[in-house]
Amino acid sequence: MEKQRPGEKRKYSERLLPEERRRYHQKILEIDGNDPYDIPTRCWSANPDDLPELSYINIVNYFVLGKSAYTCEQLKAYKSLDSYRLFVSGWVRDVKCYRPDGCQNSVISAKVLHSQRLNEPALSPWIIATSDGNILSAHCTCMAGVGETCTHVGALAFAVNTCTHILRSELPALVSRLIGRCLKVFAESHLSLPT
Ligand SMILES: [Zn+2]
Repeated sequence: MEKQRPGEKRKYSERLLPEERRRYHQKILEIDGNDPYDIPTRCWSANPDDLPELSYINIVNYFVLGKSAYTCEQLKAYKSLDSYRLFVSGWVRDVKCYRPDGCQNSVISAKVLHSQRLNEPALSPWIIATSDGNILSAHCTCMAGVGETCTHVGALAFAVNTCTHILRSELPALVSRLIGRCLKVFAESHLSLPT
């Protein structure tokens, strides 16, 4: 990727090397050619209900068993699975998604802070996934992001996995049952009228 010169206003994809740019445009065809870095803010949804559910199997399928578009070899990006730590440390922010009208696929994006260089601009990974969680492709603004399996993409995948898993699990129902039980015990011990 070419470096951006001060004051330069070229689109992100125009700064990629020709082969990288060709691959980039190929990837975004899955979301009708919309460039995630150019989608207006108002089009994104921050509602967790709109996120496709990424299971751990989907994540392993992509990072380990998926094939590189450049070498056609299995990615085997085991290091990206370590990026779970980046997510649990709180470096993933502003997770949001966008699905073009009539399209079966969504793009999910986030900001990922540098864990040791907080003054530097956050990185911007994105993932394109089908509605049932199959990861089709990914990208990131870091140097390794062109390879589609950097730790920032991994951290975003784990953020979505955790978010959708908690939302769609039995947890909310369990919490409300627990709260209801606590209130009942409290009422019985503090509010019972003398007989
Ligand atoms: Zn990255």
